[in-house]
Amino acid sequence: MKICVMPGDGIGREIVAQALRVLDKVGAKFGRKFETQEALIGGVAIDATGSPLPEETLRLCKAADAVLLGAVGGPKWDTIDPSIRPERGLLGIRKELGLFANLRPASLFPELRHACYLRPDIVAKGIDLLVVRELTGGAYFGTPKGVEVRGGERVGFNNMIYFEHEIRRIAKVGFEAAKKRRKKLCSVDKANVLDVSRLWREVVIEVSKDYPDIELSHMYVDNAAMQLVRDPSQFDVIVTENLFGDILSDEASVITGSIGMLPSASVGEGNPGLFEPIHGSAPDIAGQNKANPLATILSVAMLLRYSVSDMDAEAAAIETAVQKTLQQGYRTGDIREEGCKLLGCVEMADAVLANL
Ligand code: NAD
Repeated sequence: MKICVMPGDGIGREIVAQALRVLDKVGAKFGRKFETQEALIGGVAIDATGSPLPEETLRLCKAADAVLLGAVGGPKWDTIDPSIRPERGLLGIRKELGLFANLRPASLFPELRHACYLRPDIVAKGIDLLVVRELTGGAYFGTPKGVEVRGGERVGFNNMIYFEHEIRRIAKVGFEAAKKRRKKLCSVDKANVLDVSRLWREVVIEVSKDYPDIELSHMYVDNAAMQLVRDPSQFDVIVTENLFGDILSDEASVITGSIGMLPSASVGEGNPGLFEPIHGSAPDIAGQNKANPLATILSVAMLLRYSVSDMDAEAAAIETAVQKTLQQGYRTGDIREEGCKLLGCVEMADAVLANL
């Protein structure tokens, strides 16, 4: 399996280096061969080539089976021309690879329940859900859009528009993800008000015919936002459109309370997927061996599970090793608690490797 690796900026290089050690060990344990090639993105790419997403990076990504990313951005590039900001590299690669589905798990390791923002009786039921968000359609990209003057006053407008094929393909991603999990899919829409949501619901129901073993439910987005804090344990996989997914995926991850723990995946059709931690480049702790590498290590697990070659057992081995490490009381600074064994970035990866 060919993996294009883009450490990026800030803590990116430190966390990706540790994730690659884990990947190596998984390869040795399961007799898999991973070929990695490094590419530039973000601020380091601007420094080296003047562009946040150089042509060479695109070529390497497109030739790979999967892409692993650290993080991009930092104060050094905050004041440069917005058209070549590091974040442009990230938007550019998502677009170039046609990544229309964003998969964001929000799971709370029981060992980290102290970090969760919810009441203990709610947390006790467990949180282990996956938000599948449509990434390239809806109000963020729909036309017509703009701000203009009509009848002597300004008017702003966007268009929440979905073609049937866009709904069908994201629904399929949702059902496939549910198949790999607890076989429950909740489609979130606003079909009581929005026409686009009515079509959304219709198409999701049509796709469900191909997945008789998956339990499908529907929920309005306002209720879903409330249910996520009231009882997140009811959810397995949530599938929803771009704007609703943007909000719900952030809500779901923030309730777990630990940004250094959460991986994500963006996938398309026929192109390599992009796997990355949800956090940024954390310039405040970069280069100090303080970063939590677990979100990136868990991103490698997602890479194995959701990329072409379907390596569920390998992914599960990584997740189990991470959980064991937490059970042993090891913590980085961001998830520290009283009585824990505080480790640096490298030492945390050492502990995961030992458990693997
Ligand atoms: P951030 O996620 O980088 O950091 C927020 C806080 O969380 C900081 O205190 C940081 O130290 C801490 N943190 C984040 N990841 C951690 C980890 N693995 N271990 C321990 N602590 C961790 O968000 P920010 O400070 O708003 O942004 C910093 C830079 O990152 C900006 O340039 C921003 O544009 C960029 N950014 C990039 C991405 C991405 O690459 N996907 C995402 C968000 C922000």
